[in-house]
Amino acid sequence: MAKYVYDFTEGNRNLKDLLGGKGANLAEMTNLGLPVPPGFTITTEACRHYLAEGSVPDGLDQEVAGHLEALESQIGRSLGQADDPLLVSVRSGAKFSMPGMMETVLNIGLNDESVHGLAKQAGGNERFAWDSYRRLIQMFGKTVLGIDGDLFERALDALKGKRQDTDLDTGELQGLVETYKGIVREQTGKDFPADPREQMRLAVMAVFDSWNAPRAILYRRQERIPADLGTAVNIMAMVFGNYGDDSGTGVAFTRDPGSGRQGIYGDYLQNAQGEDVVAGIRNTIPLEDLERLDKDSYDELLGIMRTLENHYRDLCDIEFTIERGRLWMLQTRVGKRTAAAAFSIATQLVDQGLITMDEAVTRVTGDQLAQLMFPRFDGGAPKKKIAKGMNASPGAAVGKAVFSSERAVELSEQGEDVILVRRETNPDDLAGMIAAKGILTSRGGKTSHAAVVARGMGKTCVCGAEELEVRTAEQRFIAPGDVVVSEGDVISIDGTTGEVFLGEVAVVDSAVVEYFEGAEPDDELVRAVDRVMRHADGARRLGVRANADTPEDAARARRFGAEGIGLCRTEHMFLGERRQLVEDLVLAATDADRQAALDALEPLQKSDFTGIFQAMNGDPVTIRLIDPPLHEFLPDIVDLSIKAAKDEATEKDHKLLTAVKRLHEQNPMLGLRGVRLGLVIPGLFTMQVRAIAQAAKEVPGSKAEIMIPLVAAVQELEAVREEAVKILADVGVEALIGTMIEVPRAALTAGQIAEAAEFFSFGTNDMTQMAWGFSRDDVEAAFFSRYLDLGIFGVSPFETLDREGVGRLMEIAVAEGRAARPDLHLGICGEHGGDPDSVHFCHEVGLDYVSCSPFRIPVARLEAGRAALAETDSDTR
Ligand code: PEP
Ligand code: MG
Repeated sequence: MAKYVYDFTEGNRNLKDLLGGKGANLAEMTNLGLPVPPGFTITTEACRHYLAEGSVPDGLDQEVAGHLEALESQIGRSLGQADDPLLVSVRSGAKFSMPGMMETVLNIGLNDESVHGLAKQAGGNERFAWDSYRRLIQMFGKTVLGIDGDLFERALDALKGKRQDTDLDTGELQGLVETYKGIVREQTGKDFPADPREQMRLAVMAVFDSWNAPRAILYRRQERIPADLGTAVNIMAMVFGNYGDDSGTGVAFTRDPGSGRQGIYGDYLQNAQGEDVVAGIRNTIPLEDLERLDKDSYDELLGIMRTLENHYRDLCDIEFTIERGRLWMLQTRVGKRTAAAAFSIATQLVDQGLITMDEAVTRVTGDQLAQLMFPRFDGGAPKKKIAKGMNASPGAAVGKAVFSSERAVELSEQGEDVILVRRETNPDDLAGMIAAKGILTSRGGKTSHAAVVARGMGKTCVCGAEELEVRTAEQRFIAPGDVVVSEGDVISIDGTTGEVFLGEVAVVDSAVVEYFEGAEPDDELVRAVDRVMRHADGARRLGVRANADTPEDAARARRFGAEGIGLCRTEHMFLGERRQLVEDLVLAATDADRQAALDALEPLQKSDFTGIFQAMNGDPVTIRLIDPPLHEFLPDIVDLSIKAAKDEATEKDHKLLTAVKRLHEQNPMLGLRGVRLGLVIPGLFTMQVRAIAQAAKEVPGSKAEIMIPLVAAVQELEAVREEAVKILADVGVEALIGTMIEVPRAALTAGQIAEAAEFFSFGTNDMTQMAWGFSRDDVEAAFFSRYLDLGIFGVSPFETLDREGVGRLMEIAVAEGRAARPDLHLGICGEHGGDPDSVHFCHEVGLDYVSCSPFRIPVARLEAGRAALAETDSDTR
């Protein structure tokens, strides 16, 4: 029979799938002998069953009862026992951390009787007991009974006025409990459930249900966490941080998650329970100050943090509570960190002998590297600083101030850059945080919701800028010196320094970009990036090339580490001043006219290619013959028609109009383009091949590869190839001739096509379009958001390669192509070549290289290294 409940002594950190991250790590800490309150975990499997069937699995209730009994006898109190109650917390905990997205209920077991027992237990501390009771009704009411949390908040605010919640006395708290019970009755038509076991059972189901809360769904989509994992539920004996000033609760990191530096890093709140810290109810004190308040607990905590870091061999974050001078660990996990910290920590851990360089490479991601390539504010630019908060998540963000999540979404949908300004954020702000360029809060520390979530998203965030008075209802904030910033006013925030500026501040490239451009690594972060990149380069099997079609792009790509050009598109070479010649080509009435237009284009093309060969200095350059439909090079049909209607058209305009009409297509993406165009306009491809051959001859050492686009049948390729081979022989240069594989038929007949191709390059943009039947120019705006909402795909297949469909076509083409021609060279040049997950796929199917835009080259290099190293270590997420 399935086992749905694990005692903390039974689990371990490797059981995250089953016990969730929190449960697995509580078990790990328990087994390390650290002070963890006793408890047990209900598995994600039970949650999945509940979500699928609408009821808990058979046997779960009995299993939970058995574990609760064991817990009760271990502690020597029973749940909700009137004279001496055991209280428990019920907490969510999925495999991947989803901070604040799911539910937690504390103080389960309290009712009108056991509240007195709790007071007795606490040495007659009535205030504490009633405070805990009101917290239970408030949390339970909101999360389990679905009552609007504001109703409780407002009752609390009305009672405390300008005072802190800690100023409320016992009598006031008793009154508040009655008010809260009234709210429950009014909102649900029933009394607050007094039976402790019923409270626990309902709380467990509420945690299960919270897996599908809208904000949890949104967060998963953003973080690409699978939707079907479910959450585990942890039931743990309560320990109390709200006993009085000898108690408290805190969160800490074993090192700075912003920079990676070692040190004391965390927040502590005296006389409080865990949720107070994250919610920013009162301002926390820095963890260092705990030394002064309770040196024994502080020293013990530091020792535990060292133990955890050595054990996990990584930065850990923790939650702890001190109950009357006794330290308890409530959570640990490998902590989220900024991109900069990820690189610094990885190399620091290598230097400390805790991990190998191989592991260091798997500990950072291409997405993190991309974040480090974000711009930062120009040090020399004029700035008007209006406040300074905490540097919660790095980067430079400029945008219009907005004061609600809804406005952030609205304005960003209108194409505006916005900065979301809040006193503090809560999980309901998630949509606004995603829409905003940056987040600014006036309350809360680096472990506040805003900070944690922004770091996870790689979004610039300044938090706790306390000098700012944020007036959400008036949609403005006031900075010192009576500076008023209203909705729509532009501000700039620096997540690296915590500064807030009025107006727009100029931004410059990152130091990491400068390093890739060739600057010497001169700070700790850049040196860390350098070490990781070198190691990744040494480990990777995939080559990395660039999509570049100008000498400038080619040169930058090479500086960024490209080992060649995988796609030089030639279309742009027919625009601008050369449009005239293309028009002549289309209008040519005779072979001689056409040849004259081609002859005029050829030297221009030759000089295009010479420039690129020179920039690439002997590295291979794959030049793709012209692809898009011909009418794209001609004037707009509407403009010409208007001219004609107004009688302003010249004779050439009339001819052009006729040609444009003749060439008009309903589906140009599926029309006369690529190899089809080359076969229809005699001399076009041969002109390009001759220009390539002559350029290659002129630049010694150059390595040209000629690529034919949109091939669907080997016969198309053979026809072009035959002529190209002749031209190459005439000019006396050698070049590989290959093809794009972008039409599904080409993938399915790859064995035949390989007979005529020395290389394949997967054009996954077109292949995605044609495999799904999606017009690549239209569908993303038209309905992808709906498809994402429906979960038809988790991410756009134009962004991350669809392994099941397009990937399957690639697998077939790789296998059949290589079977026909074992030395067939294989690459990819669709946009997916620079996407982390897709790079891993390309490694797995055995391509020789990926090709992507110059700016993504470093990401592709790193991910190619990680893919190679992941073969020996599967845990690289
Ligand atoms: C492709 O289709 O993937 C490709 C690289 O070609 P283009 O984007 O130019 O059609
Ligand atoms: Mg294409």
